[in-house]
Amino acid sequence: MYTVNDLYTNTCTDLELEHPLTSQEVAMAVNGKRPHALVVPFPAQGHVMPLMKLSQKIANHGIKVTFVNTEYVHAKVLAGFRLLVLVSGIELASIPDGLIPEDDRENDFTVTESLVRTMPGYLTDLIEKINCENGDEKISCVIADIAIGWILDVAKKVGAEPVAFLPAAAAGMALILHIPKLIEAGNLDINGTMMRSELINLSDEIPPWKRNELSWSFSSDLQTQKIFFECCLTAEQTAHHAKWLLCNTFHEIESSACKLIPKICPVGPLLSSNSLKSSASGGSFWVEDTTCLSWLDNQPVGSVIYVSFGSIAIFSQDQLHELALGLEHSGRPFLWVIRSNLANGSHAEYPNGFQERVANRAKIVEWTPQEKVLAHSSVGCFLSHCGWNSTVEGVSMGVPFLCWPYFADQFHNQNYICDIWKIGLRLNPDENGFRSSHEIKTKIGMLFSDHSIRENSLKVKEMSIESVNESGSTFQNFETFINHLKI
Ligand code: UDP
Repeated sequence: MYTVNDLYTNTCTDLELEHPLTSQEVAMAVNGKRPHALVVPFPAQGHVMPLMKLSQKIANHGIKVTFVNTEYVHAKVLAGFRLLVLVSGIELASIPDGLIPEDDRENDFTVTESLVRTMPGYLTDLIEKINCENGDEKISCVIADIAIGWILDVAKKVGAEPVAFLPAAAAGMALILHIPKLIEAGNLDINGTMMRSELINLSDEIPPWKRNELSWSFSSDLQTQKIFFECCLTAEQTAHHAKWLLCNTFHEIESSACKLIPKICPVGPLLSSNSLKSSASGGSFWVEDTTCLSWLDNQPVGSVIYVSFGSIAIFSQDQLHELALGLEHSGRPFLWVIRSNLANGSHAEYPNGFQERVANRAKIVEWTPQEKVLAHSSVGCFLSHCGWNSTVEGVSMGVPFLCWPYFADQFHNQNYICDIWKIGLRLNPDENGFRSSHEIKTKIGMLFSDHSIRENSLKVKEMSIESVNESGSTFQNFETFINHLKI
C-alpha cells in the first residue's frame, strides 16, 4: 500500500506572510484603485456554478468581477436565469470556444483540445480591452478553474495575480500532487494505471483509492484514461504555478487532505445561501422548475427521497426502469430530476403504468433549484451521483445520502460519505454494474431507519455552518484572500 509522510502545514494566512508585496500591489495601495478579478470556469455545469457562487462572494466585498464563459455556455446561463439575480459588481463576458457549429460541444475532450489552442489568445485580447477601457479597474487577478489552469500563463503575462480554483475535493488534489512519487515508486504507470492491486493511502482520514477509483480511471478505454491523466498532470503543474489554490471544501471535513496541499485555501462550502441574500442560484444551464418547492411544502417532514444525478451522468433505459421500480416499491414520496438526455442521451421511458401508480407521491422535473430542495425540511434522503458540488450541498444541508457514483472522483466522494463522515449508504451494483430495484428499495428502507447516519449528517451540517460563521475556518480564509486582493 502506498502511504505518505510529508505534510505541509501552511494555511492561506501563512501565505500572506510568505509573499511580500509586489510592486504592483504597492502601486494599487497607493493609487487607491479598485481590484478587479477575472474569473474563468471550464465550460461545464459543475464548474460554472461553484465559480459563480465564489464570484458573488467576492463581489459582495466590493471587488469588481468579470466572469468569462464561452459564448455557448454564456447563452445557456442567460437562458437559465428566470430573473437576473446577480449582485452588482459582476460583469458577464464571453469569448469563442474555437469550435465550429458542427462540433460536439458536449464532448469535454473536443472542447478542451480547442480551448488549449484558442483560449489564451481570446483571453489576452479580452483583458487588454478591459484594461484599456477601465483605467482604474484593470484586471489585477485571474481566478482560473484548475481544469484550464494553463490560462494562468496569461495572468502572469498581463501582470495579474494567478489564482487557481478547485471545484473538487482537496483529497483529489492531494492525490494528483503525489502522481510523480507514485510513478517513481512503481505504483502507477505513465498512463495512470495502478501497477499493483493494492490501495493508495495518503492518510487514515482520507479514504484509500482502489484500482479503478482513481479520478482519472477509465478501465474500459485506455485512450480516454490517458487524456484524463494528462489533464491531472497539467493540474499538478498549475498547483505549483498558482499563488493561491482556492477550494470548495472546508477544513473540518477535509483537514488531512488540506495538510497535504501547499497553498490551499479552503473557501467552501460555496452556497448561494451564503453569498446572496435572496439565496437565488446563478449559473444554471437549465431553467429551475420551482414548482417542486411548493410540492415539497405538502409532503411530511423528512419523508422525501430527492433523486438527482447532476448534469453529466447518463443511464441505460433498463437501469432507469429498475430505478423507477425501486422508488415505487419504497412506498415513499420522491422528487426525481430527469434531464431530457438522462436515458443515454434520450428522453427516459417509464415502466408501464408507473406514472399513474406513483402520481400521488411523486414529482418529476427536468431541473431543480437544488440547494433549496436540499434545504427543505421535507427532504429526508439524497439519492445522488456524488458529484463534488452535490456532495458539499448535501453535507451542508445535513441530508443523508444514498450513493450511486457514475465516474471520475464520484467513487472517492462516495467513500468519504460512507466510510469517513458516515452519512450515507452505497447502492451496490451487481457484477454487471447494474443496480436492482430490490437493492434500491432495501437501501432506502435501511437509510430511513438508521438514526446514527441521521445524527452524523446533522453534525457535519453544524460544522459546515460554523465554518462560514465569523471566526470559522472558511470565513477567516476568505477574509485573508479578500484582504490580499484589496492590497
Ligand atoms: N443542480 C441543480 N439542479 C438540479 C441538479 C443539479 O441546480 O436539478 C446543480 C447542483 O446543485 C450542483 C450542480 O448542479 O451544484 C452539479 O454539480 P455536481 O458536481 O454535483 O455534478 P456534475 O453535474 O458536475 O456531475
